[in-house]
Amino acid sequence: MSSPRAWAQAGQSLAPSTVYDVAIIGAGAAGIAAARALAGAGARVIVLEARGRPGGRIVTDSQTLGLPFDVGASYIHNAPINPITALAAQQGVTVIPSDRESLALRANSRNEPRSVVNRYVAADQRLIRRSERIARSGNDQPFSAVPRDIYERRFVDLHCATDIAADADRVSVLDIASAGATDDRFPIGGFGTMMMRAATGLPVNGGAKVGHAAA
Ligand SMILES: Cc1cc2nc3c(=O)[nH]c(=O)nc-3n(C[C@H](O)[C@H](O)[C@H](O)COP(=O)(O)OP(=O)(O)OC[C@H]3O[C@@H](n4cnc5c(N)ncnc54)[C@H](O)[C@@H]3O)c2cc1C
Repeated sequence: MSSPRAWAQAGQSLAPSTVYDVAIIGAGAAGIAAARALAGAGARVIVLEARGRPGGRIVTDSQTLGLPFDVGASYIHNAPINPITALAAQQGVTVIPSDRESLALRANSRNEPRSVVNRYVAADQRLIRRSERIARSGNDQPFSAVPRDIYERRFVDLHCATDIAADADRVSVLDIASAGATDDRFPIGGFGTMMMRAATGLPVNGGAKVGHAAA
C-alpha cells in the first residue's frame, strides 16, 4: 500500500473479534518500528492510528508542488549511525548529503545575505559543540540554557520551532547532542514516503483515535 487512502481502507477490514498480543497506539515512526519488530518476532499486533495515514510527523506531500515535499521531518540526521539509513537501503531509496552552502534565510520578504546565513551556521556549530560537552558531562539541561548570544538564541528557537515542534525549554541537550553535528542526508522521494512504505503490510487501523477508559 502506498497511498493514505489504501492504508486507511486496509484498517477498516479488520475483524473486531480478533485477539492480539499487543496494541500499539499511533503509527508514527515509533509505532511503525515497534509494530515491525514485534510482528517480526511473531507477536499478534494491531496498530491503532487516529489519522487516515501512517507516518505521524513524518509526511510527504507529493500533490501541492508536483514533487515530493516533506512537510514535517525531512533530514536523516547523523546518517552513518541512524537506523533510518538502513531502512532507506532496504527500500532501495537513494540518500543525498544536505548542503549547508545551499541554505537560504528569508526575512522581511527578502533573502538575507550569505554573511548573515553564515553567522547562523557558525552559531549552530558552536551550539552543537557546547551541547556535546554538556552531554559528555552527563548533566542534562534544557536546550534553552545553552545559547550565549543573539544568533545562538535565535537559532535554538528556530530549530525547536521548525525541526522539533517543541519549546526549547522542553528539549533535552542530551537529545540534541545525540543527533550529531554532521552528515545529515535527505532521502530522495521523501521521508514520509519511506514511512508509508515501512507501514505497508502491518495490521493497522486508520481513523482509530484511542481515548481514555473510565476507571
Ligand atoms: C516540522 C518538523 C520537522 C522535523 N524535522 C525532523 C527532521 O528533519 N529529522 C528528524 O529526524 N526528525 C524531525 N522532526 C521530528 C520527528 O518528526 C519526530 O521525532 C518523529 O516523527 C516522532 O515520531 P513518533 O512516532 O514518536 O511520534 P509522531 O510522529 O507524533 O506519531 C504519533 C502518532 O500517534 C498518533 N496518535 C496520537 N494520539 C493517538 C491516539 N490517542 N489514538 C490513536 N493515535 C494517536 C498520531 O496521529 C501520530 O500519527 C521534525 C518534526 C517536525 C514537527
